[in-house]
Amino acid sequence: MSESSSSIMLESDDDIKEFEVDFSDSSDNKNSDDHSFILNQTDNILTSQCEKCGEKYIDEDHAKYEWCKPCQLNYWRDNFINWTSGNEKIDNYIQEIQLNINKYYDSILEWIPYNQFYDIKEINEIDSATEYSAIWENGPLYYDDSEKEWSRYSDENVILRCINNSYNSQNIMDEFLDEVEKYLKRKYMLIIGIVYKIYGISQNPDTMDYIIVFNNLYEHNCKNCGEIYTDIDYEWCKSCQMDHFKDNFINWSSENEEIDNFIQERQLNINNFYDKILEWIPYNQFNEIKEISKNEFNKIYSATWEDGPLYYNDDDKELMRNSNENVALKCLYNSRNKICEFLSEVKKYLSNINNKDTLHIYGISQ
Ligand SMILES: [Zn+2]
Ligand SMILES: [Zn+2]
Repeated sequence: MSESSSSIMLESDDDIKEFEVDFSDSSDNKNSDDHSFILNQTDNILTSQCEKCGEKYIDEDHAKYEWCKPCQLNYWRDNFINWTSGNEKIDNYIQEIQLNINKYYDSILEWIPYNQFYDIKEINEIDSATEYSAIWENGPLYYDDSEKEWSRYSDENVILRCINNSYNSQNIMDEFLDEVEKYLKRKYMLIIGIVYKIYGISQNPDTMDYIIVFNNLYEHNCKNCGEIYTDIDYEWCKSCQMDHFKDNFINWSSENEEIDNFIQERQLNINNFYDKILEWIPYNQFNEIKEISKNEFNKIYSATWEDGPLYYNDDDKELMRNSNENVALKCLYNSRNKICEFLSEVKKYLSNINNKDTLHIYGISQ
């Protein structure tokens, strides 16, 4: 790789050949003399497809956890015969939500039989609702990423919000589902010191009143700063993450202000624990560098990245690295003089990050 080249590193779940075609076809690159880029080694095609149905996984995380959307939807659809609320409107509503699940970390809404609850104690009476604390025997579903299947946190503390007289009136049923919708739209809702996250719907068999089942989160404040976690389930605090990146700004530099600013800005715009983190990667981090292909605009190398990419480990609740990750380096000739074009290329790939047919960027190197 020439000394004058900046590089972008991308992660690919696609064939590198396809990527090259895509790259050289884009008109804004035709005009540049030479430039450089980086991407990750092509994944084995078998690992990026579901073994059951052959469908491509949406990204490498879902491939790793073997979470395939079409198979998930079949799973939920097959399960429809195993439960009913006894009310068609509620059944349809829950089914619709279940068939709209997109990611392994999405919350699932369920019909929960009332006999699943024990230790029921009244805690609150607000407006037309009564709230109870209770323990849910089977507990909420979560996707176990090591077992690669759905599992439950049994004996979970929950809050039951019992909507008075919700059984008989059509209006109240609509209001009830509106309220469910309100909680579904946001992952968490903070009301007078309690963080609510919806688990499902139930019904008291004596009063016939419908119930919204929430989690009862005691541990929802960041151990570090005391603020409420951005993602309570994963104990991920956005402001602490930002502070971590800011503190780290002094530890790296590309020696180009525009690139530094660009990377810093990307790092400070992370909103979820699972968002990909763009980094400056010192070139001496790469080993086993081998040329794969070249054309008049760029060269592609395979390499291993010693420290490897950052990811949020949801067991240890901290950022960790997948060391010795296979990556591809795409090197654009003479990009030192064309930082603007170079960064617009980076942006192009970053903006496509959720598209399963494009490459993921890990970072920039030189
Ligand atoms: Zn599948
Ligand atoms: Zn914090």
